[in-house]
Amino acid sequence: KGAISFTDVHFAYDPARPILKGISIDVPAGKTVAVVGPSGAGKSTLSRLLYRFYDVQGGSITVDGQDVRDVTQKSLRAVIGMVPQDTVLFNDTIAYNIRYGRIEASDSDVEAAAEAAQIADFIRSLPEGFRAMVGERGLKLSGGEKQRVAIARTILKAPPILILDEATSALDTKTEQEIQAALDIVSRNRTTLVIAHRLSTVIHADEIIVLKDGVIAERGTHGELIDRD
Ligand code: ADP
Ligand code: ADP
Repeated sequence: KGAISFTDVHFAYDPARPILKGISIDVPAGKTVAVVGPSGAGKSTLSRLLYRFYDVQGGSITVDGQDVRDVTQKSLRAVIGMVPQDTVLFNDTIAYNIRYGRIEASDSDVEAAAEAAQIADFIRSLPEGFRAMVGERGLKLSGGEKQRVAIARTILKAPPILILDEATSALDTKTEQEIQAALDIVSRNRTTLVIAHRLSTVIHADEIIVLKDGVIAERGTHGELIDRD
């Protein structure tokens, strides 16, 4: 079993309309598995179940061998980092927004210093215009800039498991490519579940799952799926 394992998962928001009808997906430790499929196929529902926004109605989900129903949402958040489609920022500085969620966690000065260095490294890697904005308020950022903040937050948290839920789908093509490059770096050697709407954005995934009408229609590498088309 992988670091993340969905086994025969069933779920419906409305009992009359099943969304997931027996889904089994394994994400081995350090690997990247992508779930693609048309809008409404149930892709985001998988990430919501993994994060315990909802609980499965049949089957099970395990993280490192432990059933997520036996784990609190708080402890799940400690091991799973999520970059969502639309990042909601606080009306505070970008620096604050990047640090959000880590303030309580870092109780020693040493840790705080290490964090500051990590942030500084990340900031230095950013385009100049964005770098200048770090002391400014987050609310006026564009979609791409908000996603950079979300990625910075995730890098800082360094979670062993990563969920990328259509993290670039709200962006224009050029920004999407930039953000995608950053995400490829963050997900390397990390257990990653990617939710995507297009096959072309998940070329590097170790396995791609195609979800359709609540079941797995196809699975394979990017090359294998392209060949079958
Ligand atoms: P995808 O991510 O593949 O676009 P979702 O997992 O978001 O699909 O949604 C799957 C289906 O479930 C859609 O038809 C959507 O309308 C429905 N759905 C999503 N969230 C809810 C909800 N909270 N209540 C009822 N139906 C929902
Ligand atoms: P922890 O404090 O356990 O590290 P948080 O509860 O702060 O985790 O949040 C986990 C992740 O979920 C954060 O990295 C953040 O990106 C995201 N998140 C939390 N709250 C929101 C929110 N209101 N809107 C968007 N993303 C959020």
